[in-house]
Order: sequence, then structure tokens, then C-alpha cells
Amino acid sequence: MKQVYLDTFGCQMNVADTDRMELVLFHSGYRRTLEKEDADLILVNTCSIREKAEQKTFSLFGGLKPLKMANPDLILGLTGCLGQQDGEKLLKRMPYLDFVMGPDQVEGIAQAVDRVRTTSKSFVWTGFDQEKVYSIPELPGDLPKSPGPSAFVNIIKGCDKFCTFCVVPFTRGREKSREPEELYEEIRHLVSHGAKEIILLGQNVNSYGKRGLKKPMPFHELLYGVAEIPGVQRLRFTTSHPNDFTRETIRAYRDLDILVNHLHLPVQSGNNQVLRAMRRDHTIEEYRDLLAELKSEVPDIAISTDIIVGFPGETDSAFADTLKIMQEVGYSSSFMFAYSPRPGTPANELPDSVPEETKKQRLQKIIALQSQLTEQQGQSYIGKNVEVLIEGRSSKPGYTFKGRNPQYWNVNIQGDTLQAGETVTVQVETVSGHTLNATTP
Ligand code: SF4
Repeated sequence: MKQVYLDTFGCQMNVADTDRMELVLFHSGYRRTLEKEDADLILVNTCSIREKAEQKTFSLFGGLKPLKMANPDLILGLTGCLGQQDGEKLLKRMPYLDFVMGPDQVEGIAQAVDRVRTTSKSFVWTGFDQEKVYSIPELPGDLPKSPGPSAFVNIIKGCDKFCTFCVVPFTRGREKSREPEELYEEIRHLVSHGAKEIILLGQNVNSYGKRGLKKPMPFHELLYGVAEIPGVQRLRFTTSHPNDFTRETIRAYRDLDILVNHLHLPVQSGNNQVLRAMRRDHTIEEYRDLLAELKSEVPDIAISTDIIVGFPGETDSAFADTLKIMQEVGYSSSFMFAYSPRPGTPANELPDSVPEETKKQRLQKIIALQSQLTEQQGQSYIGKNVEVLIEGRSSKPGYTFKGRNPQYWNVNIQGDTLQAGETVTVQVETVSGHTLNATTP
């Protein structure tokens, strides 16, 4: 039996792509190993959204080079967004690589490996086939592992938004949705293997159904369709763009019990001038109004977000607007970053006007504010009962299991007679960061 070692950088889409490659390779006779030294094939699924992710990739490959030198039969592949972005440049920089592949070629991973075996020549396989239907066909037979209580389902790939700081439209291509019937089939399959919660995944899920389907279909109809599948106990989706978030989706939150009370809605900045320069195509007032309407229908909804500080042209007063929107919305958590220019993006052409030191200070400020907001919300859970879908064993001393509540807080639980996949009501006793610590009542 051949063995594959897989490593992943970046977002949940990349994690899903790695899982898919594992499944495709499983059906070609590969089994996953956690030891690089035992592998016949090593794949690193890369991210290029930030410079740091790229640096980590290069340092990882630096460590893999001696393995390849010692064993020329070992196949080394670099997949994902960095592969798409830099292609041939990567082969020049790391000539010991066997192939470089983009995210659009995930289904062809077994073919890529065969090509290396038969030709012994390195190659780059990127490029997008705009005509190709986006499909992730079910593979017959066993799964390499069970999906677990919470399972991700890719519903759309690519992005048509072209925010000026973002590489995604260049690395993952234009939007394409999967046919709803294929999605329903996959979800039924996951539920039959133990999944209780389905998380619909895409760079901009709210744009689902606009392109690539035989017949266009709005995102909210997909939500209603998934809700009809027996056995789906919870439904989530990520990520959303405010401009495609419709009133009908707000109504779905109200109508569908399984659609949990959490939304990840990136704001990026609280300032209109910066939002314009980022090409987000909405104002902060529109963002605020959207959330006000959502909260009027779903009062206990938790909102999380993405924020970039130090974007070109961000003044002190523009940054103060970001602090303001954070306070107004009271985000439960945020992914926060200092802006770093990415090659090939329109913002890369702008003068990187905010000094690194200022970026760092602003980042520290929003991190501190977010901790405060998270702390306040966490405190409000103390003594209350929350419903938790148990995902597995807890690593926190004194706690046996861990899971999430509908608002996507991590919850550690004390209790012996529980099992993964069960939904239980627990009482919150303490809070640390974005984690609630609870006991079975
Ligand atoms: S909507 Fe998201 S994925 Fe699309 S370009 Fe903007 S930041 Fe990137």
C-alpha cells in the first residue's frame, strides 16, 4: 500500500480540497500517513492570501528537500493557490519539486501523480477551464475516514468580486456553483455516515446559483432545500459578502430552525473611503442596516467578521471608524490582519502608505478591542444553558468533551456519558477567550 503525507495551509476551502485529494488518492490505492518519512507522495496544499503563509510554505519545503535527495522515488507536489499564482517560478526556485498544481485541478490529483511516475519530468498544471461544469462526483466504495459530526460541503468556487487586496479571483478563478441535486446527494451521504451539522462552503456563498448551473437558483432556495433533508440537525454557511446577502436569506434565518444563529460577515474596514479603495462596493451604512434588519429578525445572532488594518490610505480617523463599527456590532470574534500587498492584485499598485509600525499598533488595538467584546459576551453566558453539538474529546484538563453552541462558541464540557454527534444542553460555568466551559446539569 502506498502512503501519502498531506499538509494544508490557509482557509477552509483548502482543507476541503485536501480532504478531496485524500479521497481521490484513497481510491488510487494511497493511504494517509502522518509521518513524512514514511511517505511515497508528499502534497502541500498552499495558500497565498498573505505573505506569511507563503514563507511558511517555503520553509516547509526546505525541510522536505533532504527527504527527496535521499529518496528520488518520493514524489513532491505543491498544490493550491500559491501554485496557481507562481507556477513555473516555483519549479525554478525549488527544482526538486515534481509538480505544481492549481486549485482547479484537485480532481486530477491521481492523474498528476501518474504523470510523474510515467514521465519522470516535472510539470506545472494550472489554468482554468471556464466551460467545465463544477462537479465533485461521489466516489463509490469506502471513505478514508468518517465525516464527523460537522461536515463541510463546497457549494461554489471562485469569486467575481475582485476586492482590490485579494488574490482569490486570480487563484481560484471566476464563480461557479455546483448543481443543487449533487449537493443534496452529498449531504444525504454525509448524514448517512454520521454528520449532524452541514457547513456550506465557498468564497462567497451568497452568490450561489448565479453562474454554472443549468438553471440559476438563489442561495436562500438552497438553504430551504437542505433543510428538507432528514437528519440534518444544524446548518451553517461561510463566507458571505454583504452585497449578495438578501432579505430572503434573512427570512431563512427566521423560518428555518436548523439554520443556526451565527453569521460570518466580513466588514474589512469601518470607513467608506477605505471600503471604496478596497472595492467592496457597499458603504458602512449599508452594512450596518443589513445587520440591523438581521438582528431584528434574529435577536440572539452572533456576528463574526474579517478586518484588515493599514490598507493604503487608511488615516487615523478612518481607523477610528473601524473601531467604531466593531463596538457597534459587538462582534463575537474576528479574523484580524495588518495589510500586506499581494502580487497581481490592484492594491499592489497603490503606495503602501501606512508605516509598518502604525499597522502593527492598529492591529494590536483591534485585537485588544475584540478580546474585550468577546469577554463581555462570554460573561453573559455564565450560569446559562447552551445547546452543544459534541464534536469530540476535549484536550482541556478537567473536561471530557468539546463542541460548539449555535453561535459558534467553543464549549468544553465535563460529563462522562456523552458521545460525539450528540446534542446536549449544558450549563456554562466559566469562560476563557472564545471558549465556554460547561457542565452537564
Ligand atoms: S469577496 Fe472575498 S474572496 Fe472575493 S475578492 Fe473579495 S475578499 Fe476575495
